[in-house]
Amino acid sequence: MRIANYKEISFAFGKTPKFVLWVQGCKHNCKKCIAKQWQNLEGGEKKSNEDLIKLIFQSKVEGVVLSGGEPLLQYEDILILVDLLREHNLGIILYTGFSKKDVEENYSKILDFIDVIISGQYIESKNNGRGLRGSTNQEIEFLTNRYLEEKDFFYNGNRILEIDIKNEAVSFCGIPPLDANILFQAGK
Ligand code: SF4
Repeated sequence: MRIANYKEISFAFGKTPKFVLWVQGCKHNCKKCIAKQWQNLEGGEKKSNEDLIKLIFQSKVEGVVLSGGEPLLQYEDILILVDLLREHNLGIILYTGFSKKDVEENYSKILDFIDVIISGQYIESKNNGRGLRGSTNQEIEFLTNRYLEEKDFFYNGNRILEIDIKNEAVSFCGIPPLDANILFQAGK
């Protein structure tokens, strides 16, 4: 699979530690996308599912966040990955720029493996600065009970943005609070 980046342990997506995997490549072209460098379908680096599983298990996390980019563009690989994660009882949160209807029509099998899906394109004017969706047009659906008690955090929680500096490169993890724009502008 082509991946853009990953973070071994994050607490930006709920109470428990999560591995965050940003999948490379996206065609949605949302206005004001903050991950433009991850849209290129040929960018990023290739990693096998075996390598990813190894990294995830080493991280000793409770769950995995699949984001991007658009994870569903590499559907076959993502399906294998979520199947393996589920076998090991890891929670899975999926972000996709496709609508829930698109997912049901074209990618429905993945819904059997994940706990939460956050679907729909990012619309800047509908970004209310709250919770784990980028903008309020995006749908959050809990497909299992696993994260249901954190429902309020998903919709309305204070956003957490983790900032990592490694080898002089700065990377961000989490859904940016509204006042974080200044950080992104500074990084351009
Ligand atoms: S779906 Fe995400 S990565 Fe793709 S263009 Fe929209 S905001 Fe950017």
